[in-house]
Amino acid sequence: MQLLLIFTGGTISMIQDPKTGSLHPASLENFRACVPELASSSVHIDTLPFNPLIDSSDVNPSHWIKMAQTVAEHYDQYDAFVVLHGTDTMAYSASALSFMLENLHKPVIFTGSQLPIGVLRSDARENVLTAIEIATALNQQGEPMVPEVAIYFEGRLFRANRTTKKNAEQFEAFDSYNYPSLAKAGVHITYREDLIRYATDDRPLVLHDKIDRNVAILKLFPGITAPLVDAILHTHGLRGVVLETFGSGNAPSYDWLYRRLRDAVDMGIIVVNKTQCNTGTVQMGQYEVSQNLMKAGVISGYDITTEALLTKMMILLGEYTDQQEIITKIQTSLCGELTINQ
Ligand code: ASP
Repeated sequence: MQLLLIFTGGTISMIQDPKTGSLHPASLENFRACVPELASSSVHIDTLPFNPLIDSSDVNPSHWIKMAQTVAEHYDQYDAFVVLHGTDTMAYSASALSFMLENLHKPVIFTGSQLPIGVLRSDARENVLTAIEIATALNQQGEPMVPEVAIYFEGRLFRANRTTKKNAEQFEAFDSYNYPSLAKAGVHITYREDLIRYATDDRPLVLHDKIDRNVAILKLFPGITAPLVDAILHTHGLRGVVLETFGSGNAPSYDWLYRRLRDAVDMGIIVVNKTQCNTGTVQMGQYEVSQNLMKAGVISGYDITTEALLTKMMILLGEYTDQQEIITKIQTSLCGELTINQ
Protein backbone atom coordinates (compact mmCIF):
# COMPACT_ATOMS: atom_id res chain seq x y z
CA MET A 1 0.00 0.00 0.00
CA GLN A 2 1.45 3.36 -1.05
CA LEU A 3 0.22 6.59 0.52
CA LEU A 4 1.06 10.20 -0.22
CA LEU A 5 0.94 12.56 2.76
CA ILE A 6 0.43 16.09 1.44
CA PHE A 7 1.53 18.54 4.08
CA THR A 8 0.03 22.00 3.57
CA GLY A 9 0.48 23.55 7.03
CA GLY A 10 -1.84 24.63 9.85
CA THR A 11 -1.57 24.03 13.58
CA ILE A 12 -0.81 20.37 12.93
CA SER A 13 2.52 21.40 11.42
CA MET A 14 3.57 23.57 14.36
CA ILE A 15 6.00 22.74 17.13
CA GLN A 16 6.63 24.71 20.27
CA ASP A 17 10.02 26.19 21.07
CA PRO A 18 10.73 24.66 24.52
CA LYS A 19 12.57 27.82 25.64
CA THR A 20 10.26 30.60 24.45
CA GLY A 21 6.98 28.65 24.14
CA SER A 22 6.36 30.22 20.70
CA LEU A 23 5.00 28.17 17.80
CA HIS A 24 6.81 27.71 14.51
CA PRO A 25 6.41 25.37 11.52
CA ALA A 26 7.93 21.94 12.08
CA SER A 27 10.41 20.60 9.59
CA LEU A 28 9.49 17.26 8.04
CA GLU A 29 12.07 15.61 10.32
CA ASN A 30 10.53 17.28 13.41
CA PHE A 31 7.10 16.10 12.30
CA ARG A 32 8.24 12.52 11.72
CA ALA A 33 9.99 12.56 15.10
CA CYS A 34 6.70 13.54 16.77
CA VAL A 35 4.90 10.63 15.08
CA PRO A 36 7.44 7.77 15.24
CA GLU A 37 4.70 5.27 14.31
CA LEU A 38 4.93 6.58 10.73
CA ALA A 39 8.31 4.88 10.29
CA SER A 40 7.10 1.49 11.53
CA SER A 41 3.81 1.51 9.59
CA SER A 42 3.23 -1.31 7.08
CA VAL A 43 2.07 1.39 4.68
CA HIS A 44 4.74 2.99 2.50
CA ILE A 45 4.32 6.72 3.17
CA ASP A 46 5.87 9.44 1.05
CA THR A 47 5.57 13.03 2.22
CA LEU A 48 5.09 16.06 0.02
CA PRO A 49 5.31 19.35 1.92
CA PHE A 50 4.09 22.68 0.60
CA ASN A 51 6.81 25.28 0.62
CA PRO A 52 6.18 27.39 2.61
CA LEU A 53 3.73 25.66 4.95
CA ILE A 54 0.68 27.89 5.30
CA ASP A 55 -1.83 28.79 7.96
CA SER A 56 -5.12 27.79 6.37
CA SER A 57 -6.51 31.30 6.80
CA ASP A 58 -4.07 32.20 4.00
CA VAL A 59 -5.31 29.42 1.72
CA ASN A 60 -6.89 30.62 -1.53
CA PRO A 61 -8.09 28.93 -4.74
CA SER A 62 -4.53 28.72 -6.10
CA HIS A 63 -3.73 26.39 -3.20
CA TRP A 64 -6.81 24.25 -3.96
CA ILE A 65 -5.51 23.96 -7.52
CA LYS A 66 -2.09 22.91 -6.22
CA MET A 67 -3.65 20.31 -3.88
CA ALA A 68 -5.93 18.89 -6.59
CA GLN A 69 -3.14 18.86 -9.19
CA THR A 70 -0.85 17.09 -6.71
CA VAL A 71 -3.45 14.33 -6.26
CA ALA A 72 -4.07 14.10 -10.02
CA GLU A 73 -0.36 13.99 -10.90
CA HIS A 74 0.32 11.21 -8.38
CA TYR A 75 -3.00 9.42 -8.82
CA ASP A 76 -1.64 6.27 -10.52
CA GLN A 77 1.39 6.05 -8.27
CA TYR A 78 -0.44 5.97 -4.90
CA ASP A 79 -3.37 4.03 -3.43
CA ALA A 80 -4.45 6.79 -1.07
CA PHE A 81 -3.87 10.42 -0.11
CA VAL A 82 -3.91 12.17 3.26
CA VAL A 83 -3.88 15.97 3.30
CA LEU A 84 -2.66 17.72 6.46
CA HIS A 85 -4.32 21.12 6.58
CA GLY A 86 -5.16 23.87 9.06
CA THR A 87 -8.63 23.56 10.51
CA ASP A 88 -9.80 27.14 9.84
CA THR A 89 -10.57 26.69 6.15
CA MET A 90 -10.29 22.92 5.85
CA ALA A 91 -14.00 22.57 5.06
CA TYR A 92 -13.58 24.95 2.08
CA SER A 93 -10.48 23.23 0.70
CA ALA A 94 -11.87 19.73 1.15
CA SER A 95 -15.21 20.75 -0.41
CA ALA A 96 -13.36 22.33 -3.34
CA LEU A 97 -11.32 19.17 -3.95
CA SER A 98 -14.48 17.03 -3.90
CA PHE A 99 -15.72 19.01 -6.93
CA MET A 100 -12.32 19.34 -8.62
CA LEU A 101 -11.61 15.59 -8.60
CA GLU A 102 -14.43 14.08 -10.67
CA ASN A 103 -14.70 10.27 -10.83
CA LEU A 104 -12.47 9.83 -7.79
CA HIS A 105 -11.88 6.16 -6.99
CA LYS A 106 -9.28 6.60 -4.26
CA PRO A 107 -9.44 8.06 -0.73
CA VAL A 108 -8.39 11.68 -0.19
CA ILE A 109 -8.63 12.21 3.57
CA PHE A 110 -8.07 15.64 5.11
CA THR A 111 -7.07 16.05 8.72
CA GLY A 112 -5.44 18.57 11.05
CA SER A 113 -5.41 19.29 14.75
CA GLN A 114 -6.50 21.80 17.35
CA LEU A 115 -3.17 21.63 19.20
CA PRO A 116 0.25 21.68 17.52
CA ILE A 117 1.94 18.35 16.83
CA GLY A 118 4.78 19.32 19.16
CA VAL A 119 2.55 19.84 22.21
CA LEU A 120 2.15 16.97 24.67
CA ARG A 121 -1.66 16.92 24.76
CA SER A 122 -1.97 17.35 21.01
CA ASP A 123 -4.77 15.66 19.08
CA ALA A 124 -2.51 15.61 16.00
CA ARG A 125 -1.01 12.12 16.36
CA GLU A 126 -4.36 10.34 16.70
CA ASN A 127 -5.86 12.34 13.84
CA VAL A 128 -2.97 11.63 11.45
CA LEU A 129 -2.62 7.95 12.31
CA THR A 130 -6.36 7.24 12.07
CA ALA A 131 -6.64 9.26 8.85
CA ILE A 132 -3.89 7.05 7.39
CA GLU A 133 -5.65 3.90 8.60
CA ILE A 134 -8.94 5.05 7.04
CA ALA A 135 -7.27 6.08 3.79
CA THR A 136 -5.69 2.64 3.42
CA ALA A 137 -8.68 0.56 4.60
CA LEU A 138 -10.15 -1.87 2.09
CA ASN A 139 -13.67 -3.29 1.97
CA GLN A 140 -14.53 -6.98 1.49
CA GLN A 141 -14.13 -6.65 -2.27
CA GLY A 142 -10.57 -5.45 -1.73
CA GLU A 143 -11.48 -1.97 -2.95
CA PRO A 144 -10.82 1.29 -1.06
CA MET A 145 -13.30 1.57 1.81
CA VAL A 146 -13.69 5.35 1.43
CA PRO A 147 -13.10 6.42 -2.19
CA GLU A 148 -14.18 9.99 -1.44
CA VAL A 149 -12.77 13.32 -0.33
CA ALA A 150 -13.45 13.23 3.41
CA ILE A 151 -12.41 14.91 6.64
CA TYR A 152 -11.31 12.80 9.61
CA PHE A 153 -11.28 14.59 12.95
CA GLU A 154 -11.53 13.51 16.58
CA GLY A 155 -13.12 10.11 16.09
CA ARG A 156 -15.39 10.88 13.15
CA LEU A 157 -15.13 10.76 9.39
CA PHE A 158 -17.28 13.19 7.42
CA ARG A 159 -17.99 13.65 3.72
CA ALA A 160 -15.88 16.71 2.88
CA ASN A 161 -18.60 18.70 1.18
CA ARG A 162 -20.98 18.21 4.14
CA THR A 163 -18.55 19.46 6.76
CA THR A 164 -18.36 22.74 8.68
CA LYS A 165 -15.91 23.91 11.34
CA LYS A 166 -18.00 24.42 14.47
CA ASN A 167 -15.61 24.79 17.39
CA ALA A 168 -12.46 26.82 18.01
CA GLU A 169 -11.91 25.38 21.48
CA GLN A 170 -12.87 21.70 21.76
CA PHE A 171 -11.04 18.88 19.98
CA GLU A 172 -14.30 18.04 18.20
CA ALA A 173 -13.83 20.89 15.73
CA PHE A 174 -16.06 19.73 12.85
CA ASP A 175 -19.55 18.53 12.20
CA SER A 176 -21.71 17.38 9.34
CA TYR A 177 -25.20 18.61 10.11
CA ASN A 178 -27.16 17.33 7.16
CA TYR A 179 -25.48 13.97 6.56
CA PRO A 180 -24.40 11.30 9.06
CA SER A 181 -20.72 10.49 9.69
CA LEU A 182 -19.19 8.02 7.22
CA ALA A 183 -17.26 6.28 10.00
CA LYS A 184 -16.65 6.41 13.73
CA ALA A 185 -13.30 5.58 15.27
CA GLY A 186 -13.36 4.14 18.76
CA VAL A 187 -11.64 0.92 19.74
CA HIS A 188 -12.66 -0.21 16.25
CA ILE A 189 -13.33 1.90 13.19
CA THR A 190 -16.93 1.35 12.13
CA TYR A 191 -17.70 2.30 8.55
CA ARG A 192 -21.15 3.15 7.23
CA GLU A 193 -20.77 1.54 3.82
CA ASP A 194 -24.43 2.36 3.12
CA LEU A 195 -23.54 6.08 3.29
CA ILE A 196 -20.18 6.09 1.50
CA ARG A 197 -20.22 6.84 -2.25
CA TYR A 198 -18.90 4.01 -4.41
CA ALA A 199 -18.40 4.58 -8.12
CA THR A 200 -20.58 2.42 -10.32
CA ASP A 201 -18.22 2.67 -13.28
CA ASP A 202 -14.50 2.98 -13.88
CA ARG A 203 -14.41 6.31 -15.65
CA PRO A 204 -10.98 7.96 -15.34
CA LEU A 205 -10.27 10.82 -12.97
CA VAL A 206 -11.13 14.24 -14.41
CA LEU A 207 -9.41 17.27 -12.90
CA HIS A 208 -11.37 20.55 -12.88
CA ASP A 209 -8.77 23.17 -12.12
CA LYS A 210 -10.32 26.35 -13.45
CA ILE A 211 -11.77 28.51 -10.71
CA ASP A 212 -13.74 31.74 -11.03
CA ARG A 213 -13.50 33.91 -7.92
CA ASN A 214 -16.29 36.28 -8.96
CA VAL A 215 -18.66 35.09 -6.26
CA ALA A 216 -19.98 36.61 -3.05
CA ILE A 217 -21.77 35.67 0.14
CA LEU A 218 -24.64 37.99 1.01
CA LYS A 219 -25.84 37.30 4.54
CA LEU A 220 -29.25 38.77 5.33
CA PHE A 221 -29.96 40.23 8.76
CA PRO A 222 -32.83 42.21 10.30
CA GLY A 223 -32.21 45.83 9.37
CA ILE A 224 -30.06 45.17 6.28
CA THR A 225 -29.89 48.25 4.07
CA ALA A 226 -30.20 48.76 0.33
CA PRO A 227 -26.72 50.40 -0.02
CA LEU A 228 -25.09 47.31 1.51
CA VAL A 229 -26.96 44.99 -0.86
CA ASP A 230 -26.05 47.28 -3.77
CA ALA A 231 -22.39 47.27 -2.77
CA ILE A 232 -22.32 43.49 -3.08
CA LEU A 233 -24.59 42.99 -6.08
CA HIS A 234 -22.88 45.76 -8.06
CA THR A 235 -19.41 44.24 -7.57
CA HIS A 236 -17.68 44.41 -10.93
CA GLY A 237 -17.65 41.02 -12.68
CA LEU A 238 -19.87 39.30 -10.12
CA ARG A 239 -21.32 36.01 -11.48
CA GLY A 240 -22.63 34.09 -8.47
CA VAL A 241 -24.09 34.88 -5.04
CA VAL A 242 -24.66 32.67 -2.02
CA LEU A 243 -27.69 34.35 -0.44
CA GLU A 244 -27.76 33.36 3.23
CA THR A 245 -31.39 33.52 4.28
CA PHE A 246 -33.42 32.84 7.43
CA GLY A 247 -34.98 29.52 8.44
CA SER A 248 -36.27 27.51 5.53
CA GLY A 249 -35.02 30.08 3.01
CA ASN A 250 -36.88 33.24 3.94
CA ALA A 251 -36.00 36.90 3.37
CA PRO A 252 -37.49 40.25 4.40
CA SER A 253 -40.35 41.10 2.04
CA TYR A 254 -39.04 44.61 1.22
CA ASP A 255 -39.86 45.56 -2.32
CA TRP A 256 -36.39 47.14 -2.76
CA LEU A 257 -34.72 43.81 -1.96
CA TYR A 258 -36.89 41.95 -4.45
CA ARG A 259 -36.13 44.50 -7.19
CA ARG A 260 -32.39 44.38 -6.57
CA LEU A 261 -32.28 40.59 -6.63
CA ARG A 262 -34.40 40.46 -9.77
CA ASP A 263 -32.11 43.00 -11.50
CA ALA A 264 -29.07 40.93 -10.51
CA VAL A 265 -30.64 37.74 -11.91
CA ASP A 266 -31.68 39.63 -15.08
CA MET A 267 -28.03 40.68 -15.48
CA GLY A 268 -27.02 37.00 -15.49
CA ILE A 269 -25.86 36.68 -11.87
CA ILE A 270 -26.78 33.31 -10.36
CA VAL A 271 -28.26 33.83 -6.89
CA VAL A 272 -28.60 30.71 -4.73
CA ASN A 273 -30.68 30.53 -1.55
CA LYS A 274 -28.81 28.94 1.37
CA THR A 275 -30.31 28.90 4.86
CA GLN A 276 -28.32 30.37 7.77
CA CYS A 277 -29.41 27.33 9.83
CA ASN A 278 -26.90 24.51 10.04
CA THR A 279 -29.46 21.75 9.88
CA GLY A 280 -32.38 21.45 7.47
CA THR A 281 -33.10 22.57 3.97
CA VAL A 282 -34.35 25.56 1.96
CA GLN A 283 -38.00 25.16 1.01
CA MET A 284 -38.77 28.05 -1.26
CA GLY A 285 -42.40 29.08 -1.46
CA GLN A 286 -43.31 27.48 1.88
CA TYR A 287 -43.78 30.95 3.41
CA GLU A 288 -44.96 34.10 1.70
CA VAL A 289 -41.59 35.69 2.62
CA SER A 290 -39.70 33.39 0.27
CA GLN A 291 -42.09 33.79 -2.66
CA ASN A 292 -40.48 37.10 -3.64
CA LEU A 293 -37.15 35.29 -3.93
CA MET A 294 -38.69 32.76 -6.30
CA LYS A 295 -40.28 35.53 -8.36
CA ALA A 296 -36.89 37.29 -8.54
CA GLY A 297 -35.34 34.12 -10.02
CA VAL A 298 -33.32 33.09 -6.95
CA ILE A 299 -32.75 29.31 -7.00
CA SER A 300 -32.74 26.88 -4.08
CA GLY A 301 -29.49 25.51 -2.68
CA TYR A 302 -31.48 22.90 -0.71
CA ASP A 303 -29.42 21.57 2.24
CA ILE A 304 -25.90 22.37 0.99
CA THR A 305 -23.27 23.94 3.28
CA THR A 306 -22.00 27.44 2.55
CA GLU A 307 -18.48 26.03 2.09
CA ALA A 308 -19.68 23.51 -0.49
CA LEU A 309 -21.97 25.96 -2.32
CA LEU A 310 -19.34 28.67 -2.60
CA THR A 311 -16.60 26.33 -3.86
CA LYS A 312 -19.01 24.46 -6.18
CA MET A 313 -20.07 27.76 -7.79
CA MET A 314 -16.45 28.88 -8.20
CA ILE A 315 -15.56 25.63 -9.96
CA LEU A 316 -18.70 25.45 -12.14
CA LEU A 317 -18.30 29.11 -13.15
CA GLY A 318 -14.65 28.41 -13.99
CA GLU A 319 -15.49 25.36 -16.06
CA TYR A 320 -18.75 26.13 -17.86
CA THR A 321 -20.17 29.12 -19.69
CA ASP A 322 -23.75 28.02 -20.33
CA GLN A 323 -25.89 29.64 -17.61
CA GLN A 324 -28.59 26.96 -17.64
CA GLU A 325 -26.02 24.16 -17.46
CA ILE A 326 -24.44 25.81 -14.39
CA ILE A 327 -27.84 26.24 -12.71
CA THR A 328 -28.77 22.61 -13.40
CA LYS A 329 -25.47 21.43 -11.92
CA ILE A 330 -25.87 23.65 -8.84
CA GLN A 331 -29.22 21.98 -8.20
CA THR A 332 -27.88 18.46 -8.83
CA SER A 333 -25.91 16.45 -6.32
CA LEU A 334 -22.56 16.00 -8.11
CA CYS A 335 -20.74 14.14 -5.34
CA GLY A 336 -23.11 13.75 -2.44
CA GLU A 337 -23.29 17.41 -1.39
CA LEU A 338 -27.11 17.58 -1.61
CA THR A 339 -29.71 15.26 -0.16
CA ILE A 340 -31.94 15.56 -3.25
CA ASN A 341 -31.32 13.39 -6.34
CA GLN A 342 -28.12 11.84 -4.93
N1 ASP B 1 -5.02 28.91 12.05
C1 ASP B 1 -4.81 27.47 11.96
C2 ASP B 1 -5.04 27.06 10.53
O1 ASP B 1 -6.15 26.91 10.11
C3 ASP B 1 -5.72 26.76 12.90
C4 ASP B 1 -5.64 25.26 12.87
O2 ASP B 1 -4.97 24.62 12.10
O3 ASP B 1 -6.34 24.66 13.71
O4 ASP B 1 -4.10 26.89 9.81
